[in-house]
Amino acid sequence: MAAKQTIGILALQGDTSLHSRALAKLRVSAKLIKKPGDFNNLDGLIIPGGESTTLFYLAESFDLLSTISEFAKNGGRVFGTCAGAILLAKKVINPHQRSLSLIDIEIKRNAYGRQLDSFESIGEGKKPLPAKLNMTFIRAPRIKSTGPDVNILAVHKNEPVLVQQNKILCATFHPELSAELDIYHYWLSA
Ligand code: GLN
Repeated sequence: MAAKQTIGILALQGDTSLHSRALAKLRVSAKLIKKPGDFNNLDGLIIPGGESTTLFYLAESFDLLSTISEFAKNGGRVFGTCAGAILLAKKVINPHQRSLSLIDIEIKRNAYGRQLDSFESIGEGKKPLPAKLNMTFIRAPRIKSTGPDVNILAVHKNEPVLVQQNKILCATFHPELSAELDIYHYWLSA
């Protein structure tokens, strides 16, 4: 992992503190991002969970959509968790909404139904991640399809839940709620 990275956490809505805590454990500095100028000297960006419609609307209002896209297109790492993954997807359904289209996946919002709105489970990681990964799903989306350049890094009941395309990583669950830091470590080194 490269030394002295500074990782931004999009701080418009949703949970930022647990991501900060995970980064602190890895001795990586975290910076809360609220406006385009905050992107200076950033090595990566985490888009946290929350409510994707609100997050997209706020990002648009604060003029952050093009900044995030440019950051990613210039090779910046971006990690979207849950609502963050929805923002990064190429196509969003249930219902359709606009997104940044930075990773070639189709994602369905709130896709586990009411009974299973939130649950903890164990999924299967692919190497170099551990074979067993704790996963917490909170009104989570489901990845319905992945394009040819998308790497599936973990599955839950045979469905992709952690996917990567170049330096863009998306989890439909909440890695910040898990004690293990393997996923952050992987993303920071990718
Ligand atoms: N259900 C939310 C959405 O569709 C995502 C939930 C989350 O981020 N935990 O935007």
